[in-house]
Amino acid sequence: MTPVETEVASVASYIAGEWITPKGAASHPVINPADGSVIASLPYATAADVDRAARIAHQAFLEWRQVPVVDRVQPLYRYKTLLEKHAEEIAGILTRENGKTAGDAIMEVKRAIQMVEVACGMPSLMMGDSLNEVAKGIDCHTIRQPLGVCAGITPFNFPAMVPMWMFPFAIAAGNTFLLKPSEKVPMTPTRTAELLLEAGIPEGVFQLIHGGREVVEALLHHPLIKAISFVGSSPIAKLVYQAGAAAGKRVQALGGAKNHLVVMPDADLPKTVDAILGSAFGAAGERCLAGSVVVPVGEAAEPLLKLLVDKTRALRVGDGSKAGTDMGPVIGPEHRQKILGYIEKGIEEGAVPLCDGRALQIGDSNGSFVGPTIFDQVKPEMKIAREEIFGPVLSVIRAKTLDDAIEIVNASEFGNTTTIYTQSGKAAREYQTRVEVGMVGVNMAVAAPMAFFPFAGWKNSFFGDLHAHGKDAVYFYTEQKVLMTRWF
Ligand code: NAD
Repeated sequence: MTPVETEVASVASYIAGEWITPKGAASHPVINPADGSVIASLPYATAADVDRAARIAHQAFLEWRQVPVVDRVQPLYRYKTLLEKHAEEIAGILTRENGKTAGDAIMEVKRAIQMVEVACGMPSLMMGDSLNEVAKGIDCHTIRQPLGVCAGITPFNFPAMVPMWMFPFAIAAGNTFLLKPSEKVPMTPTRTAELLLEAGIPEGVFQLIHGGREVVEALLHHPLIKAISFVGSSPIAKLVYQAGAAAGKRVQALGGAKNHLVVMPDADLPKTVDAILGSAFGAAGERCLAGSVVVPVGEAAEPLLKLLVDKTRALRVGDGSKAGTDMGPVIGPEHRQKILGYIEKGIEEGAVPLCDGRALQIGDSNGSFVGPTIFDQVKPEMKIAREEIFGPVLSVIRAKTLDDAIEIVNASEFGNTTTIYTQSGKAAREYQTRVEVGMVGVNMAVAAPMAFFPFAGWKNSFFGDLHAHGKDAVYFYTEQKVLMTRWF
């Protein structure tokens, strides 16, 4: 057993131009999920801190919106360089508090940097339309203006990247921003915030408010906050969407997922198995784009499952910071218990475990490990087929035809991502057209749209209109105005 540290540093919030330790009564221990040790303590900010930060952000907005967009993006260019310089360091912090492997962590940091790169294009992205002589002597054009103070609330699984779906776009567009990261992984967003300040973001334009529910509720109700971006589980996404909208705010709330991977009999078997392994067990299944239900069609099932099970058994699970680890721990002991509960439920419901990750023990570690688990003979009505598990548990629902597979996918309450594996363009096209899912891959492991495309699911995976990053982020963080002009 690794001894639990008793003396740890506390993680600060950045409010009103200084790093502070909030005076709230609550705090949260930050743990290294690979060994269970407490690595930091996170004091929670309060509603009063949110109020102070929102007022300062509003004052800063009145000046920041007047800074020409070409000047607003200059700190972001410097930020990109700083993030590149510190990428390995940030990835190391990320692995330590989140558990994902070093390879996954560095990929996440690279994806985060791409968000900054795209936001640097704001001078072009914010341009409006214009048309002269729409009527005799009258010209018409549109402009995009920033909203004011915007806030972001983010989940534990991508602490470097998900906040950057938000603040680089918001800030470049002329808004000011308050970030409330996940309390489970506060150290990564704190380090990236330090670098943003080092890049020269003016005071009040960006503030970091660590906390829990009290902070979120204060953000949702503060009259000076105009827009809320949320990423997390579906129940909280829905709650945030409803409360934010009721308070008159613009809201985008990205939720949970249950993603299906449909395998046709003509799929390239080895490549498909590698893609499914990456999708289901990469980041220990803690991705909103993780495949969690495989749907083999017709005779695809037997050869697919044989190779999939062989390769799954060969995966090396362990401390993500160690070279050669394929899969790290899940986020913490509570979440581990929840995942084990789902595996037990699957067995109780009659699914057949081909790989059972419950008994996995890594040395004498106190880490939150769950071995990769595969269930065959899963029925769509079973709990493991319907609910988001957010761990390394893959269910197999066999389908007779592509039509059956599409029906299974469309019956899900979620619609985040899905992939079809096939060599038939016709089957792929049919699938892409008919599935009720926001992000659709063909022969992909993880069909994650890049920074210049929009990102979001459908149905209970998303509440709102405009998706994350890409042009949608520009539209989300700006209000359009139409100007009509006649000169005598
Ligand atoms: P979560 O919903 O528990 O927490 C997300 C944020 O909401 C955190 O900052 C948390 O502090 C806050 N929060 C939690 N409970 C709250 C409450 N009752 N009231 C107010 N605020 C609350 O999600 P998580 O466990 O951190 O992250 C995993 C979830 O996020 C999964 O469901 C995953 O699918 C989803 N996710 C979705 C996407 C996407 O793009 N759709 C991306 C990443 C993660």
